[in-house]
Amino acid sequence: MKKIHFDGYKKFKKVYFKDNEKLFDELAEGQSPHTMIITCSDSRVSPVKILSATPGELFIARNIGNIVPPYEVTKGATQSAIEYAVNALKVPNLVILGHSSCGACAHLYHEKTEEEEHVELSHVDDWLTLAYPAKHNAMLECLNNPEKNRAEITEKNNIQLSIQRLMSYPYIVEALENKTLEIHGWWYNIGTGDLEVYDYGSRCFKKVDE
Ligand SMILES: [Zn+2]
Repeated sequence: MKKIHFDGYKKFKKVYFKDNEKLFDELAEGQSPHTMIITCSDSRVSPVKILSATPGELFIARNIGNIVPPYEVTKGATQSAIEYAVNALKVPNLVILGHSSCGACAHLYHEKTEEEEHVELSHVDDWLTLAYPAKHNAMLECLNNPEKNRAEITEKNNIQLSIQRLMSYPYIVEALENKTLEIHGWWYNIGTGDLEVYDYGSRCFKKVDE
């Protein structure tokens, strides 16, 4: 088993923290992030790295599959984070950040083998029922266009689904109407490092110029 160690922390304290003491001094007084990001728990997706962000810029909520649950669900960690970001911190941007090779999206199609029956994933299975509409839309899309990449279509549908779910949050709709908030859908390609942004007009994802 690979042991956890503190080498990375020691390096952070000695180099990054030391070079940015003024920033951390200011951050100790409070935060004013410009963007909330809801992304997948996947270890390969690091919004801070992808955006070359500094501490204090991004308010991040992570869950399996970057899912936004319906507004009505109570005691939800993701809903609490959205509420705090939009109503208390008043972030002007909210991004749903999905990604390639998403295990959560793949799991929607996965049929358990006999061996896997003994692995407890009951909470994961239950949580992922929220993403079924993304799977069903992708299945339909791929039936008509078999050459399409079903995994990618599901991941992108899932991003759109999360955006649609945000429309069931009354305070989000109000902020959008007041133009104090913008919602964005991004898809990050782990293998190429490319970032694609959802375009509401064409309903397509478009690659960000480098
Ligand atoms: Zn994922």
